[in-house]
Amino acid sequence: MSDMIRPQPGILDIALYEAGQSHVEGVTDIVKLSSNENPFGPSDRAIDAFRRTAHTLHRYPSTDHASLRRAIAEVHGLEADRIICGVGSDEIITFLCQAYAGPGDEVLFTEHGFSMYRISAMAVGATPVEVRETERVADVDALLAGCTERTKLVFIANPNNPTGTMLAGNEIARLADGLPPQAILVLDGAYAEYVDGFDGGAALVKARENIVMTRTFSKIYGLGGLRIGWGYAPRTIIDVLNRIRGPFNLSTTQLEVAEAAVRDQAYVAKCRAENARLRVWLAEALAEHGVPSDTSMANFVLARLHDAAEAEACDAHLKAQGIIVRRVGSYNLPHCLRITVGDEASCRRVAHAIGQFKGRR
Ligand SMILES: *Cc1c(COP(=O)(O)O)cnc(C)c1O
Repeated sequence: MSDMIRPQPGILDIALYEAGQSHVEGVTDIVKLSSNENPFGPSDRAIDAFRRTAHTLHRYPSTDHASLRRAIAEVHGLEADRIICGVGSDEIITFLCQAYAGPGDEVLFTEHGFSMYRISAMAVGATPVEVRETERVADVDALLAGCTERTKLVFIANPNNPTGTMLAGNEIARLADGLPPQAILVLDGAYAEYVDGFDGGAALVKARENIVMTRTFSKIYGLGGLRIGWGYAPRTIIDVLNRIRGPFNLSTTQLEVAEAAVRDQAYVAKCRAENARLRVWLAEALAEHGVPSDTSMANFVLARLHDAAEAEACDAHLKAQGIIVRRVGSYNLPHCLRITVGDEASCRRVAHAIGQFKGRR
């Protein structure tokens, strides 16, 4: 191939996204706790909607997503014309970077922040800026100190992945109020549904001009395989993002399954309650085995081992038993393992295996 054919500057500096592993060589009875998936899958109503769309696959999908946006607006008490839907919330993050950042601009996130922020920033030639946290919690003062006149986007997942910690509403408001005037605060609410009574920051978006909230159907809705997410933002920002959104970015299947899923809040409440119960159980079981974790607000626990070597040995021990968890060295947490809260049997299995590992040392 001609060496004159080259990607944009910076593209080859992007490290490939590391997905949670899903199989282990030679092991059949696998427990996958590496991608924060809902162990109970999607609601039956979502699955019924999926089947129904088989009959209309020859038709192009809706371009304005009006029906799904209306359903989301009704369920969450939002304005439908301030919602945009995308191929996972990842696509909303991509749109934000494409529309608001480029070469010379800075995109802020925290040292244990979600890896897509860096990837999306670099993909548009912007400069990723990593800001320290304090004991695995985002630090508003550090974020504000990290802003410059070139800062265009500030990404915070609340609750955060992989730490499971979250900032209170007044801290988020203080961050939004202190940002330079050209910067947008993006509140990534991928795990918002796991926090009882939490609106993901929707009220803050309503009250301010500089906040965008992103949400997903990949986590509590159990639809990660279908790729649906959405954003809630001031109308001016929604108008900008819609200009770069592909007209048919979501299929009829994605749209109809998401609509059925969001209207089944009884299922969401059931999953939230079961997750909360098993999360406490898992964290306590790990603590009894000498493995501490911060109080998690999401559907995973960040287990802290003694050091990176112990985390690696523990991961190897779990893998040998067919239990896949997530190493988080690329999130500056080499001594930790992120463990998704699975169903009860999976929680028991992983806790037992970690107890075995600790007992042998
Ligand atoms: C899983 C996750 C998402 C969801 O991404 P989708 O593209 O919607 O599947 C977004 N943000 C964070 C922090 C996540 O952990």
